[in-house]
Amino acid sequence: MIAEAVYQDLKTKLADVVPEFELHYKAELAAEINQLKRERNAVILGHNYMEPALFHSIPDFTGDSLALSRQAAATDKDIIVFCGVEFMAETAKILNPNKTVLLPAEKAGCSLAASITAEDVRQLKAQFPGVPVVTYINTYADVKAESDVCCTSGNAVAVVESLKSDTVIFLPDEFLAGNVAKETGKHIIFPTKTPPVKFNGQMDYQMIGWHGRCEVHDKFNVPDIEAVRRQFPDVVIVAHPECSPEVVEASDFSGSTTAMIRFVEETSAPRYLLLTECAMGDNIAASNPDKEMLRLCSVRCPHMNQITLEETRDALKFTQYVIDVPEYIRVRALQAVERMLAIG
Ligand code: SF4
Repeated sequence: MIAEAVYQDLKTKLADVVPEFELHYKAELAAEINQLKRERNAVILGHNYMEPALFHSIPDFTGDSLALSRQAAATDKDIIVFCGVEFMAETAKILNPNKTVLLPAEKAGCSLAASITAEDVRQLKAQFPGVPVVTYINTYADVKAESDVCCTSGNAVAVVESLKSDTVIFLPDEFLAGNVAKETGKHIIFPTKTPPVKFNGQMDYQMIGWHGRCEVHDKFNVPDIEAVRRQFPDVVIVAHPECSPEVVEASDFSGSTTAMIRFVEETSAPRYLLLTECAMGDNIAASNPDKEMLRLCSVRCPHMNQITLEETRDALKFTQYVIDVPEYIRVRALQAVERMLAIG
């Protein structure tokens, strides 16, 4: 009966997106997970990139990295199950050292987080002494620990502007850095691809970037956008700021996943093209049945896709996979995360 109620709810939201037989199967799983969640006093956080049936059935809270970090900081549950990737679960652990934080898949990584190490940050700080370090939330805890403040795609500009510093080191997303530089009017360099730059107080640049990229957003390009516009002249194109500055420039709107969702809800175009992880298009389509979502779904995030209902059920059943952050790293990373949360 409980599974039947979940099924009816999913059917209402996803009948146009997910085949019926799959909804039956997934409703059974979701009902089992929700029962386990109650028994274990757990909270489930679901990132906007989760597949539609999971996204619409088991999370207590859904959102982007920033929104879920806030929920992680506020929860009074014993267990946090993070339906996202490892750096997100680590952030929840940084904020909740005394709670059990579970990531349903053992290795749900991220190409951005993997692009930089704590030693890389230490070398940049030695090269540019005194320059504040902003790291994107898509980094591992030891990299956050080397940073002054974290940011998400939703607050990157506000974080950079809050520093009141002529120059900032902004890591590791090359494209997000480029988009932030454009918005804040800063001139950016990438020391790894240019001859070593000496800090001498006479710099002609104000942002120091790094060559990390999201393997999903890296795939979107201007010719594809132009082709879609030729075929659908009334399409509104919405790009995540992890896309290249050229792609953002060729789009109609750019913002975090939360900002993209809000934009679609608050505007009235007949059809949209979302340049981000494909599952989010399904989730927005489910919430906005009157609006058509075009898909460029040849690229999926292989990390987010590892989080399934089956893996989430097993996470709660077998208390796996437990996320730990060494205390000496956690306390330093916490400062950078808390500074970000205070900025908003
Ligand atoms: S979509 Fe990109 S940034 Fe997000 S987890 Fe996947 S690889 Fe990392």
